[in-house]
Amino acid sequence: MRTGQINVSTENIFPIIKKFLYSDHEIFLRELVSNAVDASQKLKVLTSTGEFKGDLGNLEVNVILDKEAKTLTISDRGIGMTGDEIDKYINQIAFSGAEEFVKQYEGKEGAENIIGHFGLGFYSAFMVAEKVQIKTLSRHEGSQAVQWESNGTTEFTITDIEKAERGTDIVLYITEESAEFLEKARIQGILDKYCKFLPIPVIFGTKTDYIDSPEGEKDENDKIKRVSIEIPNQVNNPAPAWTKAPIDLKDEDYKTFYRELYPMSFEEPLFHIHLNVDYPFNLTGILYFPKIKENVEIQRNKINLYSNQVFITDSVAEIVPEFLTLLHGVIDSPDIPLNVSRSYLQSDGNVKKISSHITKKVADKLAEMYKKDRADFEAKWDDLKLFVEYGTLSDDKFAEKSKSFSLLKSTDGTFSTIEEYIEKIKPLQTDKDNKIVALYTHDADAQYGFVKAAKDRGYDVIVLDGPLVPHWIQKMEMSNENLSFARVDADTLDKLIKKSEEIPSVLTKEDEEKLKPVFESSVNKDKFRVEFESMSSSEAPIIITQPEFIRRMMEQQRTGGGGFMGAFPEMYQLVVNSNHPKVSELLAAEDGVRAEKTKQLTDLALLSQGLLKGADLNKFIERSIELV
Ligand code: ADP
Repeated sequence: MRTGQINVSTENIFPIIKKFLYSDHEIFLRELVSNAVDASQKLKVLTSTGEFKGDLGNLEVNVILDKEAKTLTISDRGIGMTGDEIDKYINQIAFSGAEEFVKQYEGKEGAENIIGHFGLGFYSAFMVAEKVQIKTLSRHEGSQAVQWESNGTTEFTITDIEKAERGTDIVLYITEESAEFLEKARIQGILDKYCKFLPIPVIFGTKTDYIDSPEGEKDENDKIKRVSIEIPNQVNNPAPAWTKAPIDLKDEDYKTFYRELYPMSFEEPLFHIHLNVDYPFNLTGILYFPKIKENVEIQRNKINLYSNQVFITDSVAEIVPEFLTLLHGVIDSPDIPLNVSRSYLQSDGNVKKISSHITKKVADKLAEMYKKDRADFEAKWDDLKLFVEYGTLSDDKFAEKSKSFSLLKSTDGTFSTIEEYIEKIKPLQTDKDNKIVALYTHDADAQYGFVKAAKDRGYDVIVLDGPLVPHWIQKMEMSNENLSFARVDADTLDKLIKKSEEIPSVLTKEDEEKLKPVFESSVNKDKFRVEFESMSSSEAPIIITQPEFIRRMMEQQRTGGGGFMGAFPEMYQLVVNSNHPKVSELLAAEDGVRAEKTKQLTDLALLSQGLLKGADLNKFIERSIELV
């Protein structure tokens, strides 16, 4: 045995490690298990290069909990270390990293999460252990097994020991205050979180499984008996889908992997993108498009970030643009600096490249799907549109690319790109000022009357719904100079798409003056402005509209943005068709009858807009029953 002084001038390294290295103490297990996996992988590499000629054997990593002895052991059958190697890798190199770390970060805020950067992974053990032993036997033939031990001071001992198996055991003597790490469920939880897809099998104790009785025993119903057996409790799937070549995977494999990632999710993803980049940075991964719900917040932040199959974080906001955080799945890149602060991450050149690369890939995939099978793409559109709108609004490059696959859905079920749509409606829906007016509804059922009236004129009506629509419309109008959007109830059709020919009015100005107060007294005057308009006699006698501008501002306010202070008052127009025969009838009627009929007509108009409610609705129903 020999004792030594760890090669470091700063005496207080351990308190700093304990306090600063990670805000999350549980990460020690990720570091130690990944070291064990690395040691096993290295041996595989040495075998393939012929440098190691021995028998690889079973390379699994075992995590062993001994509650009584208060130890947690991470055991591998990897390359192991000789005494000299321990000196080099544990006593010197790691600590030179530690020194640098201490110099740079002593006393500074945000020093957490920096460990791996300086090659300090192993020392994170001291966050939870009062004593740490390394028992290791090197791969080199005839090596002497050694044990390194330190109790969290800069002093260590190295002793020769007996160890039959090649590889390394890291034994942690867990401190009183870290007793949580002696709980089986806690350890299982950490392993599930960080080690689920490590490339070498990781075993944590055993678990109970049920199989058919090997002796063929039968139960009272003469069925083969099920018996319980203990099997190794393997934590991970060492070959997750993203590490395989897309060509080797079927659609079903991607779906299976989705369930593996999100065991609690009952939804199937719509489709996926398999990322595979090796220049100018390394990145693999699978991104899934979920069916996006109105409430997007609960679906966010489901992308898991890995580095060489080690889980790092599920908060990827710094790596992918915000609209992409709606996607689910896995990104794995050894090139993303993982253990640095968030602000640093955002300014990192590689990270920026990765972000724009993923955006491009996603846009390309959508474009490709659209090209390959337009009908299928159209069928998925309802689930995709919110995502595409979001991307269009938040990322100019995506907006440019999405022009080729961003669709408008007409109420008759047909789909068009913006470009196609402009061509489609140009002949009929161009007004006298050469503006092309796209008519839309947010709800074809609720606005049935308006939609039908527009269609009866040969106009097309598209469906635009969802929280981003008002913002998206604004963007479309800005990027397509001659195009404007109007909801079908924003005005009368004659005014929405103004043509030059005027329809002569049956009512005179005096007639209108006479009728106006009657209409005004049949509705709430503060909310409804009564106007007369000379329309075709086949249009409805009364139409209630809400000006496009005001409604859009209100909607934009509701979903954030718009930039207006204070709420808009709810305002409608009650437009009377001066050419409708019923309106002429009103004029001719006696005062009492006129008031009654006017009320009935305005109530009907309100009803068709869903604006007749409460006591007014009740009165209307009673009155209508009387009429029957
Ligand atoms: P890093 O893993 O970032 O290099 P660590 O402090 O975690 O830093 O480990 C320092 C070095 O110690 C490793 O690079 C490796 O050479 C050696 N080492 C650590 N754990 C093991 C192990 N289980 N088997 C073999 N070597 C190990």
